Amino acid sequence: MPIGVHTSIAGGLYKSVERAAELGCEAMQIFGRNPRSWIYKPISAIEADLFRKKRQEAGLWPVVIHATYLINLCSPDEDILEKSVSLFKKEVGIAEAIGADYVVTHLGSPQEMGSEFALMRILEALKNTASGGFGKKAQILLENTSGAGYGFGSNLSDIGDILDGAEEFGLYAGLCLDTCHAFTAGYRLETKESVSELVKTIDREIGLKRLKVIHLNDSKGVFESNIDRHEHIGEGKIGIEGFKAIVNHPKLASVPMILETPKKTEDDDPRNLRIVRELKGK
Ligand SMILES: [Zn+2]
Ligand SMILES: [Zn+2]
Repeated sequence: MPIGVHTSIAGGLYKSVERAAELGCEAMQIFGRNPRSWIYKPISAIEADLFRKKRQEAGLWPVVIHATYLINLCSPDEDILEKSVSLFKKEVGIAEAIGADYVVTHLGSPQEMGSEFALMRILEALKNTASGGFGKKAQILLENTSGAGYGFGSNLSDIGDILDGAEEFGLYAGLCLDTCHAFTAGYRLETKESVSELVKTIDREIGLKRLKVIHLNDSKGVFESNIDRHEHIGEGKIGIEGFKAIVNHPKLASVPMILETPKKTEDDDPRNLRIVRELKGK
């Protein structure tokens, strides 16, 4: 099971590879660009090649790109929707240029328009993306969310429906499961039994073969609180038993796991990585 962390791209994309390698990661996740800005600056061929070379040297797999938070693939506002789809395609383009394996995106919010509306819009957005030739070299993964406000994508069966719909026009997307988001959205994870239950639910609603990445995060928010606040592994409301069950579940044995835990001190990433590794085989 490849384990890694979300690393910073400050100073250049390739720097993130150096940071991941230094931490002893096998997998890594980055933002392809500033995640809080609409301004898009294309990356140069030199930058892309440098990233590929460094990544190969470090032997990292997979490389995951997390798309911009601003992207809303089901916005009722035509303007925002258009900007979102356009930027999303560019982000998938960055991922494909640097040889990333996956692009993770949140699904956005349909405001008060409801799930049916969101589903239709997202499928249109994905169709548009696929028809531009994107999403073949880097696979698009939909991330489950905590369900705050009108946010869409906290329900695994909705994600399953989108993945099924996308396959009809030839886009083979997958799931990125965030443990913090799942827990506060109403999927229990604190015990071996509840983890087994969630694995069964994923298999039923989505299909385990479509689960490509797990975001391993403990949660500051309690069960069903819809709060999206990540905590260090074992220090949150999921707790260490839950993570022990996740990293040792036989059906999750080959799923890459990426930490998006808080980074307040230099020691936070190494410590969380160490804790996860020590849980393996316990
Ligand atoms: Zn995310
Ligand atoms: Zn996440």
